[in-house]
Amino acid sequence: MKLKISGGDIVNPAGEQFGKLDILIEDGKISAIGKDVGDAERVIDAAGLTVFPGFIDLHCHLREPGQEYKEDIMSGTKAAVKGGYTAVCCMPNTKPVMDTAAVVALVNDRARRAPAKVYPVGAASVGLSGKELTEMGEMSSLGCVAFSDDGHPIESGAMMRRAMMYAQTYGKMIMAHEEDLSIKGEGIMNEGYQSTVLGMPGISRVAEEAMIARDLLLAQTYGLKLHIQHVSTAGGIELIRAAKAKGTRVTCESAPHYFSADDSMCAGFDANTKVNPPLREKGDVKAVKAGLLDGTIDAIATDHAPHHKDEKKIEFALAASGISGFETAFSLAVTNLTDDADKLAELFSVNPARIIEKKSGVIENGSFADITIADMSKQYTFTEQSIISKGKNSPFIGQKLKGVVTHTIVDGELVYEAN
Ligand SMILES: [Zn+2]
Ligand SMILES: [Zn+2]
Repeated sequence: MKLKISGGDIVNPAGEQFGKLDILIEDGKISAIGKDVGDAERVIDAAGLTVFPGFIDLHCHLREPGQEYKEDIMSGTKAAVKGGYTAVCCMPNTKPVMDTAAVVALVNDRARRAPAKVYPVGAASVGLSGKELTEMGEMSSLGCVAFSDDGHPIESGAMMRRAMMYAQTYGKMIMAHEEDLSIKGEGIMNEGYQSTVLGMPGISRVAEEAMIARDLLLAQTYGLKLHIQHVSTAGGIELIRAAKAKGTRVTCESAPHYFSADDSMCAGFDANTKVNPPLREKGDVKAVKAGLLDGTIDAIATDHAPHHKDEKKIEFALAASGISGFETAFSLAVTNLTDDADKLAELFSVNPARIIEKKSGVIENGSFADITIADMSKQYTFTEQSIISKGKNSPFIGQKLKGVVTHTIVDGELVYEAN
């Protein structure tokens, strides 16, 4: 079937064609881009809408296998395509942990019918224990795009160095969850004025920054590739900026909540504001925005972490960490970061594709038709009832947001359309 996207404004910083052009899609691929691309069985009227290369999420938790009461691959990817994601990288902290080829194969199998592409990120260490390396070669051959112990830091520096070197032999990298647990201690929110006022144990920013510094030095000294996950502090961004200036092979991401919320939101003791790393202070929010806009932070990743309400509608100290993030990422970026569509395309599509070395993030003839269409100016109030993900845990419920994904196309198939 032929599909035509008509009259939209194409945003395509990695490609050559942009502006008000039509796109024709045949057999899953883009077959023509131009003013007169011919007829199609199905036409999407994109007048007034913005057409992006498909969004890629570098960091999410789909919870399957093992925690399907929180989310599963089908429910998670349905939420992802609603958020405009045509592909998502899922973290390995499932049950069992995705630390063998067998579990990767299982995830691939479950993802076959999913509306979005699913790129598994294999565990770096067996059982996420930080002690023994996984068979990264086998997992790479089944499509793992990177390796990570996300949820846990790799505590031993020697182990981290070995993991980075081993991943590199397969052309892959470690995506690092940076947290020194000995510095974090019993902390449950950011350490600062708010934690003092609220009487809650704090997590020092040093817990994150010390690990970032260590891993940047490893990457720099040994010429290894490194991707730093969910950067949340001004100091962490400064370290990465300095390392990049020295030519260190580092990329990084931050999540929408780190530029849309600060720790004053924890004042209501709403566990939906509990996330790891924690919401930081206003100065950090400012630094995350500046880092995203100046290119120090390469990508916006959701760290979509759905939880059951029984793990969230409880005492802050006992609640699980994480935010259900697929369905608000784009709106939060438009509302709180920038309405520069080229910049958004870089952060949501171009750079994520480059980081995991996928031939996407661009709209061009012959490429896979992974496309996200959005209404940049539409405003709405985000409600719990609107959430498709099984995880309703969002601190942004009730907020007025701007920017809505209207259509998501994966391999030429319209997998999501806003009603
Ligand atoms: Zn993490
Ligand atoms: Zn995560």
